[in-house]
Amino acid sequence: MTTLQDCRALDAQDPLRALRELFTLPEDVIYLDGNSLGPLPRSVPDRIARAVREEWGEGLIRSWNSAGWFELPRRLGDKIATLIGARSGEVVATDSTSINLYKVLSAALSIAASGEGQRRIVISERSNFPTDNYIAEALCRERGFTLHLLEADEIPGALDARTAVLMLTHVNYRTGAMHDMRELTRLAHAAGALAVWDLAHSAGAVEVDLHGADADFAVGCGYKYLNGGPGAPAFVWVHPRHTDRFWQPLAGWWGHASPFAFTHDYQPAQGITRYMCGTQPILSMTALECGIDTVLAAQPAGGMPALRHKSLALTDLFIALVEERCAGHGLGLATPREHARRGSQVCLTRETGAYAIVQALIARGVIGDFRAGRPDILRFGFTPLYLRFEDVWHAVEHLRQVLETREWERPEFQRQQAVT
Ligand SMILES: *Cc1c(COP(=O)(O)O)cnc(C)c1O
Repeated sequence: MTTLQDCRALDAQDPLRALRELFTLPEDVIYLDGNSLGPLPRSVPDRIARAVREEWGEGLIRSWNSAGWFELPRRLGDKIATLIGARSGEVVATDSTSINLYKVLSAALSIAASGEGQRRIVISERSNFPTDNYIAEALCRERGFTLHLLEADEIPGALDARTAVLMLTHVNYRTGAMHDMRELTRLAHAAGALAVWDLAHSAGAVEVDLHGADADFAVGCGYKYLNGGPGAPAFVWVHPRHTDRFWQPLAGWWGHASPFAFTHDYQPAQGITRYMCGTQPILSMTALECGIDTVLAAQPAGGMPALRHKSLALTDLFIALVEERCAGHGLGLATPREHARRGSQVCLTRETGAYAIVQALIARGVIGDFRAGRPDILRFGFTPLYLRFEDVWHAVEHLRQVLETREWERPEFQRQQAVT
């Protein structure tokens, strides 16, 4: 049996434990939802106040140059690149994940359409995050392609000479299951198709090596494990072999080779800059930089490998404690036990009551979330930057109490809210 003392001993030895100080977390909260919205970095309020008062207030329009606003999407992109196995100059922070996916999938379809043969099929996973499949469906209709949604284990056998693009999310939002990016990309390429990866639940959470996997395109999210704040800009990466081959479809002036020449025709910028569209939300982007810096702050203590090591230890501990302490309450495990197949979250299943159990936990300050489906899912994200092993112990103890006392059956926990 694992005890609270054991967990405290793990915390005492944790090389990343000082990083918790980089965040403002309420005292009475155990935050297991950093996979949905990262918490507030301590540096953000002052940094945003300075951006507002000095850069906007005093610098006014001069700040596009003097405060580095114009360069911000590329500067942030270079920082993100170090977390995902990309190189400097290959990533920009911009727009939302949904919009960036539209751009890269459209470019990938253009490449497929310009090649030999009849590649008209886009393959994705049925349980992919809905926005990814919605965007793909709309784009396929618009461009005369067909979207095939498959189960994960059907994908390798479905890649063939008709496949234009394999589009997947690396870590599944519902189950936390992680794909083998290198192997699936290899299979896609062997079939003559391109591979587009969504890193929404990977960037800052698990080690990603886009060049090592030889991926073609990638997008990812700024407000999850990168702690960029609600609605933070997302990012986009394109392999340099593709970047200058096609215009992306949202050919706005920020992707122009010289936006301030105000020419009548569109000349795309070289490199990833052409994947920008219009004027960027500088205040949001300023907060995003603080968030990315919290992840980069792990560098001296081992960087992404150290974060991944602790993340697996946290999720292993959570699974073990739930199985030890909450047995007999109808909980199942939707997340793979195998490390190579697990992201940074643990998803429990329950036939009934999942929503109310999550609500009862939130009322106790243990914040996870609920994802509807068959079966329903109680989802817990584990961010190694600020979570302690002790937090995992307390979270499971709260879960045990909620189940044992049937606290979750109270009427106030049954009421469904707009955002789950
Ligand atoms: C969170 C998430 C998104 C979010 O897209 P937005 O455009 O930011 O709303 C998209 N795809 C996946 C896989 C996600 O997990």
